[in-house]
Order: sequence, then C-alpha cells, then structure tokens
Amino acid sequence: MSSIREFYEIDEKEGIVVNKRLGKRAFVFGVEPWTSLVHRLFETFGSGAETILFDTGKFYGISSAEEEKRTESDNELRINFLFRKAMMAGWGKVMVSRELPDLFNIKVQRCVFCSEVDSPNEKQVPCFFLSGVISGFADVLFGPNKVREIHCGKDFCEFELKIDFL
Ligand SMILES: [Zn+2]
Repeated sequence: MSSIREFYEIDEKEGIVVNKRLGKRAFVFGVEPWTSLVHRLFETFGSGAETILFDTGKFYGISSAEEEKRTESDNELRINFLFRKAMMAGWGKVMVSRELPDLFNIKVQRCVFCSEVDSPNEKQVPCFFLSGVISGFADVLFGPNKVREIHCGKDFCEFELKIDFL
C-alpha cells in the first residue's frame, strides 16, 4: 500500500506540489471542471473532440514517459510505475497485465475521466484522453502501438494495448 506522500510533497504555504521521484512540479485538476471542459469540446468540435482529447492525452503520456525514462529502471517497471503514479493522481484503480510480449490489458476501476460523468443526454463520453495517455506511455517505452477501449463505463474502463513491432 503506497501513500500519496510517497509520490508527492505538498508545500501548502507556497502552493507547490512536487513529484518526489522526478523532483518536478505537479498540480491537481478538478473532475467537474474537466467534465464540463470535455462536454464543451464536443459541443464545439463534434466528433473532432475525440481527436483533440486523444492527442492531448498522447502528448501528456509521451512527456510523462520521457521523464520516467530518465530514471534507473526497465520498461516493464517504468510502465507499471507510470500507472501507479496515475493512481496516486486519483485517476482510478489501475490494473495492468501483460498478456503477450506485444499485448497489454489495462483495466481502470472508477476511471476519473468517465465514472463521474453525469450524462443527462445519455451520451457517454468514452476515455479518449486516457486512451491517448496509454498510447503515449507505450510510444516512448515500447514504440508504435494501438490502443483500443474495450469497455467504458461508470464501473470500469478497459483497454487493449497492442505494440506494433515486437
Ligand atoms: Zn472510459
């Protein structure tokens, strides 16, 4: 069982949160503002919002993985650590399993990006952002890949990550 203090140092006086492992700043993002941001993107850009969210997630994932790559570790540990870090950031309970050398299954219980979404119009907003993040992690650690969301819902979200050239 890990505690949030293992990952982050919080300086309340200065308004600074630091990721201890990397010595870099981090910040907390509210779920409701995030959700309304996502809805506004769909209102404004229609299905184009899917690409915007996926690409935003992908660049976020690439950048996070590049930071992680500078640490002493191997890629299997690194990808697990990135998901643990996501858990410590409140993204949900993440379970990763490597089914085959080129195939990962990632399950996120109570995924923060969609389990809190109240959709009055019954329209579900799948995890385009999170799919992008997973793809970005894998891009840096394993190379080109495809992420498919198998299930998206209030209970859990499940992804299949297939690495292209292994
Ligand atoms: Zn989802």
